[in-house]
Amino acid sequence: MSEVEELSVEQTLEWDTPLFQQALTQFEQALPHADVSESVAERLRFPERALMVSVPVRLDDQRFAVYAAYRVQHSSVLGPTKGGVRFDPDVSLGECAALAMWMTWKCALLRLPYGGAKGGVRCNPKELSQAELQRLTRRYTSELLPVIGPQEDIAAPDMATNEQTMAWMMDTYSMQVGHAVPEIVTGKPISLGGSLFRHEATGAGAVIVIERACQRLGWDLAEQRCVVQGFGNVGGIAATELVGKGAKVLAVSDVSGGAYADDGLDVMAALAWAAEHGSLETFPGVEHISNAELLELPCDILVLAAREDQVTAENAGAVHAKLVAEGANGPTTVEADAILAERGIPVLPDVLTNAGGVTVSYFEWVQDLGRLFWGRDEIRARLAEKLGDAFDRVWDLSAESGISLRSAALVSGIREVAAALTARGIFP
Ligand code: NAD
Repeated sequence: MSEVEELSVEQTLEWDTPLFQQALTQFEQALPHADVSESVAERLRFPERALMVSVPVRLDDQRFAVYAAYRVQHSSVLGPTKGGVRFDPDVSLGECAALAMWMTWKCALLRLPYGGAKGGVRCNPKELSQAELQRLTRRYTSELLPVIGPQEDIAAPDMATNEQTMAWMMDTYSMQVGHAVPEIVTGKPISLGGSLFRHEATGAGAVIVIERACQRLGWDLAEQRCVVQGFGNVGGIAATELVGKGAKVLAVSDVSGGAYADDGLDVMAALAWAAEHGSLETFPGVEHISNAELLELPCDILVLAAREDQVTAENAGAVHAKLVAEGANGPTTVEADAILAERGIPVLPDVLTNAGGVTVSYFEWVQDLGRLFWGRDEIRARLAEKLGDAFDRVWDLSAESGISLRSAALVSGIREVAAALTARGIFP
């Protein structure tokens, strides 16, 4: 008899979207190597809690709008849940559930005492003024009050949210409880108890992982030709760090398209241009290409740092990189993963490659709770140590078990969560 009862009720659940199916398929692919009981596996297929709220906002012109918003907490077995908040027109319950599940494996892989969460507001942030964004953020935060807290669920920036968003969230929460609670969010301004190096942590962490992979592959990072999709927090910093390591960045892109120079871009100039003009669209002195063309450029390392669903069954056959690194969450679909594997192109998976962000977020939370702050060099060294340790476990498991780096990363994370869940047992 199966350990898990098949439920007779319809099991198509509200978060069951293509992105959640992608997260679930990756989980199923890793499971046979993770040695987890059926009941623990079944528990982990479901997010623990999913909250949908509606957020009313008075616009600057006195019109009034209501936005759908979400927070999904996948697992609280190892500690409070942790995850970003994004403002994007595509935010949905399924997207948040998929991203929350990935966060669980990521935190566990890095051996951080957290589970995964994710949230967001379905809106077009480019159409909102700073004042409107502030009202939206504050009302969203107050709608989440029943489920967030420094020991319950801690937010961080994600797509189109930043230090300022986190400051508004921290202030809104602190006003409700009557005293300053910096540890309710991470990725906040340094003046509020933010951590040095948090802003750079995800992009810099991605390059730490890439450098480690190059060492294992016998490549010199300084000789690699790189392409970076996405030019925000993750992609912008990753491109800067790659150049800092002596690598050539041939192309970068944002939502408006890509900027390409075969002999290497001036990344600092591109960053300054994008900061001043809002995008790379008019950046002079380069060849302008589409995002689709950028993904197919011949290069050594392709860094995907924009968003999910970028390398798919349609274009995976046309990727001409020797190594793909996922700075974004979920940029490679399950079908594309199989095509890249068949073509011998290794993928450094998101749960490892972009884990620098949540790792320094953890350092920030620890510093806030202890009211004792560390120096930049100490943080960078601790980050490199944590990522290096996780990388080595993933690389070695992948080699020993003959599984992809993604499956190895997920197996490592799943094992940590499963061990804790087995020890705790299913309540009651
Ligand atoms: P961001 O908003 O700062 O930057 C996103 C960038 O991607 C922007 O340049 C945007 O123009 C570009 N972009 C958006 N849609 C695009 C498209 N269809 N094609 C090409 N470019 C597109 O966001 P971010 O914080 O850099 O996050 C990027 C990814 O990294 C997301 O998947 C996020 O979940 C993931 N991530 C972020 C962090 C973090 O600390 N910020 C940590 C872990 C993972």
